[in-house]
Amino acid sequence: MPRLLTPIPGPRSLRLAARRADAVSAGVASTLPVYIDHAEDGLLVDVDGNRLIDLASGIAVTGVGNPAPRVAEAVHGQIDRFSHTCFMVTPYEGYVEVCERLNALTPGTHAKRSALFNSGSEAVENAVKIARLVTGRAPVVVFDHAYHGRTNLTLALTAKTTPYKQGFGPFAPEVYRVPMSYPYRDGLSGPDAAARVLDLVEKQVGPPACVLIEPIQGEGGFIEPAPGFLAALAAWCRDRGALFVADEIQTGFCRTGAWFACEHERVVPDLVTTAKGIAGGLPLAAVTGRAELMDAVHPGGLGGTYGGNPVACAAALGAIDTMAELDLNAAARRIGATALPRLRAALGGRGDVRGRGAMLAVEFAEQTPEVARRVAASCHAAGVVVLTCGTHGNVIRLLPPLVIPEELLAEGLAVLEHAIVEGVGR
Ligand SMILES: *Cc1c(COP(=O)(O)O)cnc(C)c1O
Repeated sequence: MPRLLTPIPGPRSLRLAARRADAVSAGVASTLPVYIDHAEDGLLVDVDGNRLIDLASGIAVTGVGNPAPRVAEAVHGQIDRFSHTCFMVTPYEGYVEVCERLNALTPGTHAKRSALFNSGSEAVENAVKIARLVTGRAPVVVFDHAYHGRTNLTLALTAKTTPYKQGFGPFAPEVYRVPMSYPYRDGLSGPDAAARVLDLVEKQVGPPACVLIEPIQGEGGFIEPAPGFLAALAAWCRDRGALFVADEIQTGFCRTGAWFACEHERVVPDLVTTAKGIAGGLPLAAVTGRAELMDAVHPGGLGGTYGGNPVACAAALGAIDTMAELDLNAAARRIGATALPRLRAALGGRGDVRGRGAMLAVEFAEQTPEVARRVAASCHAAGVVVLTCGTHGNVIRLLPPLVIPEELLAEGLAVLEHAIVEGVGR
């Protein structure tokens, strides 16, 4: 049976797109406007019956599968018991259990505490609040190409203007941006790239509340800093009484072949933010950190009506069980081992192929978006969902479900390889 029954998007999707234009703000955009009816085993099935190969997982969210049986079961079980009480009014066990799991799974064996929120942006905002409160300092150091969300404070932390920040300011103050370690472009060793950053911070900022960094950058281009960069920053933070905050929202929960990407560099952050992959698609986010920091906050200082919703917590427990039972760290490493050599062969010397586990990128050498756009468009037309990213829009990124069947991954990669070869004109 062919995967595609109509052109992409098909007639039913086009009718929904017309309704959408009259109902949904134009400010919310979609990468591939096919309207989804259901999902199964690495496929998204649209309202026209087209079966698309999912190499995006809804931006690194449904790594455990979509739907994932244990997540679905946990959600059904919870929603039939109660849907909400507000943890700040009358608490429940699921919230406590998610925090216990996060405390055990995040890097470091020290005593930890967690607090739960609804979105990645909200988690990052709260990490900054905590860092400022415990240090009594205002400055936050962030990096070129960083992405930390779309709320006002997190837009100040995010690097890229168009489309995220354009026209939406003024942004929150006391945010200082420094160069990221970007081996493909800067050729610096990790320690040299860190020395460049720390010299700037010492001279222009002084000791900050925190250094906030994605251990592998996501929206900014899947940039993996040179070895030693993160460790040097973390050591400097320790020395200067600043918190080292790892934003693991995109990299966490087995995506890179480890529970958290900091593990690859043996770095233990003071605070970790998580979201995306945490709950198999339900909205949940967290800040996890050293007990003495997390407990320094006055009662009532952290929270929110929906934060740690019981259904989302049940989903997270189902998702985390799935990751452990199916060993999705090993699955992520297998995906990387399959994809990297194939993508390198397709791209030749026309850029950089990189990635850890199932967080994979093809960066085209030209720092303009045209080639990546063309490659993504031809994948989409062939029914393969891929995303672009990067400050220059010149990166194709892959975030396949960690449970994707091998043949489906191979089929998706074949489409992408063909698109790359055509796209760079080899
Ligand atoms: C997606 C993302 C965020 C923001 O998360 P939302 O849930 O979209 O608010 C923050 N940091 C990183 C690294 C992300 O990838």
